Amino acid sequence: MSEEVRMPASPEYHRPRSLEEAWRLLEAQPDARLVAGGTDVLVRLREGRYHPPALVSLRRVESLRRIEPGRAWTIGAGVSVAELLEHRELAAVFPVLVEAGRRLGSAQIRSAATVGGNLCNASPCADLAPPLLVLEARALIASAAGEREVPLSEFFLGPRRTALGPGELLSALRVEAPPAGARATFLKQGRVRMDIALASVAVRLELEGARCVEARVAAGSLAPTPTRLGEVEASLAGTELDEATLARARAAAEREVRPITDVRASADYRRHLAGALVVRAVRALTRPEAR
Ligand SMILES: Cc1cc2nc3c(=O)[nH]c(=O)nc-3n(C[C@H](O)[C@H](O)[C@H](O)COP(=O)(O)OP(=O)(O)OC[C@H]3O[C@@H](n4cnc5c(N)ncnc54)[C@H](O)[C@@H]3O)c2cc1C
Repeated sequence: MSEEVRMPASPEYHRPRSLEEAWRLLEAQPDARLVAGGTDVLVRLREGRYHPPALVSLRRVESLRRIEPGRAWTIGAGVSVAELLEHRELAAVFPVLVEAGRRLGSAQIRSAATVGGNLCNASPCADLAPPLLVLEARALIASAAGEREVPLSEFFLGPRRTALGPGELLSALRVEAPPAGARATFLKQGRVRMDIALASVAVRLELEGARCVEARVAAGSLAPTPTRLGEVEASLAGTELDEATLARARAAAEREVRPITDVRASADYRRHLAGALVVRAVRALTRPEAR
């Protein structure tokens, strides 16, 4: 008896030059998959994780590749991680994005991978998510019907699930320039230096002298989505960031995260890392040379 082998058909490949053209394609083929740098999509296609009838590449859509300075900066979803790192003015205003971008993959990956792809992928370990969460970035979501803006904290709904609806795409991020006295850092622990995060943490502190007037803390690979850690923030805000406070922050981090055990690490080890990274980040931000 002969067995029929069905090869999945190759998806059509479209390369629109404008958002309007992209939306028309998405309307005609709602199951089409958007591709930016392709560093995630192409791997998943090759693994047979999905079989879209069409791919719609965003690479030629120039409006997605803008970086516009201002009190609130606009960072296009199609900006590659390498372009983000090369933008001197942006790097000076948001050094925490540079710290995170430098830890994302290899040079080849960074030259293709985009900011939007990193977020829309909605992986708990997305390196750009924790720093953008502590910067309280807003996601600009665009469709043929218009544009809406949601806080990035409401963008991630679960592993590989975002707030994007049918026909919508992420067009840009809006990020307020931090006030003087605010500083932030990103720390990531992988199995080896170039690896996806076992755990990552971004911490942003606003200090008046030795006193912390505001703390923002976000974590990667420590919950089903990149997430803010409100209990940790509350343990740091309004304190002098002394040793007793750091012990409370460590305990709060270990309590608040919801890590899983997988092939890379156990949940217990990730919980331990959460506390250790928060303490290390706060120490780094309060060293005299960081001021
Ligand atoms: C070897 C290797 C190492 C890696 N290392 C890291 C790492 O250290 N840290 C890390 O965070 N990631 C890592 N990644 C994952 C990946 O490179 C990043 O998440 C990258 O930023 C994805 O961006 P992209 O432009 O390639 O996305 P794509 O693969 O093009 O797209 C990813 C997803 O986002 C959707 N999408 C893309 N753009 C938009 C948009 N504008 N609007 C709506 N949906 C959109 C796509 O449909 C797809 O579902 C690695 C990947 C590889 C292959």
